[in-house]
Amino acid sequence: MHSGAARKPRMRFLSGTGSTTGLPPAPVFTPDLEPLMSIDFGLSEEQQALRDLAHDFAKSEMRPVAAHHDATGEYPFAVLEKANALGIMNTHIEAENGGMQLGCVDGMLLAEEFAWGCSGIGTAIEANGLAQQPVILGGSPELKKKYLGMFAEKFSLCAYAVTEPNAGSDVQGMKTSAVKQGDKWILNGTKMWITNAGVADWYFVVAVTDPSRLARGGMTGFIVERSWPGVIVGKKEYNMGQRCSDTRGITFENVEVPEANVVGNVGDGWKLAMSAFDYTRPGVAAAAVGVARAAMEHSIEYATERRAFGQPIANHQAIAFMIAEMATEIDAARLLTWRAASLKDAGQKNTKEAAMAKAFSSDTVMKTTTNAVQIFGGYGYSQEYPVEKLMRDAKIFQIYEGTSQIQRLIISRELMVRGK
Ligand SMILES: Cc1cc2nc3c(=O)[nH]c(=O)nc-3n(C[C@H](O)[C@H](O)[C@H](O)COP(=O)(O)OP(=O)(O)OC[C@H]3O[C@@H](n4cnc5c(N)ncnc54)[C@H](O)[C@@H]3O)c2cc1C
Repeated sequence: MHSGAARKPRMRFLSGTGSTTGLPPAPVFTPDLEPLMSIDFGLSEEQQALRDLAHDFAKSEMRPVAAHHDATGEYPFAVLEKANALGIMNTHIEAENGGMQLGCVDGMLLAEEFAWGCSGIGTAIEANGLAQQPVILGGSPELKKKYLGMFAEKFSLCAYAVTEPNAGSDVQGMKTSAVKQGDKWILNGTKMWITNAGVADWYFVVAVTDPSRLARGGMTGFIVERSWPGVIVGKKEYNMGQRCSDTRGITFENVEVPEANVVGNVGDGWKLAMSAFDYTRPGVAAAAVGVARAAMEHSIEYATERRAFGQPIANHQAIAFMIAEMATEIDAARLLTWRAASLKDAGQKNTKEAAMAKAFSSDTVMKTTTNAVQIFGGYGYSQEYPVEKLMRDAKIFQIYEGTSQIQRLIISRELMVRGK
C-alpha cells in the first residue's frame, strides 16, 4: 500500500555529488554536445561562399530599398524575384523535387544576412520555408512534386496558416474545421496573422478533423490554393515593424479540398505543424542575430564619430560597455543558433535547443536595438537614422513562431517533463 506522504520529485542523477546537507545530491545536467560529432566553429568553403553571396545581395539589393518598403509597406516582389533568380530562396527543398537541398546551418547563414539587409524583406523570403517544411516532412511524393516542384519552375510564394483570431499560443484552441464529404474535405474557419497570405499561391492549413482528439490525432494539415472558391483573403495589417511583410487574415467558407491535398495522414496536422518549428525557429533566431548585428555596427560607427564632453562617446565607459555587451550576446545567440541547426543537420532532436536559440536571440535583438537607439541619443529616435527601424523590426522576433514565454515553456518542459 502507498503511504499518504507527498510524492518526492523524480530527479535524474547523472553523477553522484556528495551532499553535506542531508538532502539528495543536486541533479547534474551535462551540456547537450554529445550528439554533435565535433565542435567546429568554422564554415566550409561552400558555406563561406554562400554567406558572401547573401551578404552582397543584402548590401546591394536590400539595404538601398529597406527604408522605402518600411515607409510604404509595399511588398518587395522585385527583391524576392532577384533572390529567387540567384538561387538563395527555397534552398531546403529536396533535390528530387527540383530544390538545392541545403542544410539547416546553410539556411542560418542566409537568414542572418537577409535580416542584416532588411528583416521585413527577410521575413517575406523566409515565410516560404515555414510553409514548405511540413510538406517536406510529411507530404506524399505526388503532393511534393506538385507543390514543392513548382518552386524550381517559377517564382512562387506560399504561407503557413495555423494561428487564428482566438488561438495563437494555444494552438489547440483553434476552431477551423474540416469535415469529410465523399472524396473531399469541406474547410471552414478563419486564420489570422498569416505572413504572405495576400501573395501566396498556396497555404499549409491546419484544421480540426476530430474535436475529441485535437493534438492527439484530431488535427490535420491540408494544402489549400489561394485561388479556390471560398478562400477570402483579408486586409493587409500595418504592423509596428517589418512593415513590407504581408500579414493578413484568411477566411475559408465551405472550401472543397481534395483528399490528395491532405499533408501526411489524417490526424498528423499538429505533429507536422510543430515539427516544422524545429527547422525554422533557428532561422528566426538567425534573423534576430542579423538585425542585432546591424544595430551593433551602426552603434560602433556612430559612437566613434559622435563627440560629447570633448571626446567620442565611445570613450565613455557606459557606451563602450553597452557595445561590449552587444557583441558578447550576439556571439552567444549565434552559437546557440548554429548548435540548434547543427543538431538538425546531424539528424538529432533539437526542440529544446531551437527554443533556446529563438528565445535568447529574440531577447538579444530587442535589447541590442533598444541600446542602439540609446547610443544614438535623440537621433536614434528619428526615422532619418537607421536604428529606429531596427528597434521596431526587432519586436516581432519575441512574438511570431511562438512567443518568448512559449519558448521558455518548451525549454522547461523538455528539461523537466521529458528529461531531455
Ligand atoms: C507579424 C506577424 C506574423 C505572423 N506570421 C504567422 C504565420 O505566418 N503563420 C501563423 O500561423 N501565425 C503567424 N503569426 C502568429 C503568431 O505566431 C502569434 O501571434 C503568436 O504565436 C502569439 O499568439 P497570439 O497573438 O494569439 O497571442 P496569445 O497567445 O494570446 O498570447 C498573448 C500573451 O500571453 C502569453 N501567453 C499565452 N499563453 C501563455 C502561457 N501558457 N504561458 C505564459 N504566457 C503565455 C504570450 O506569450 C503573450 O505574451 C504571426 C504574427 C505576427 C504578429
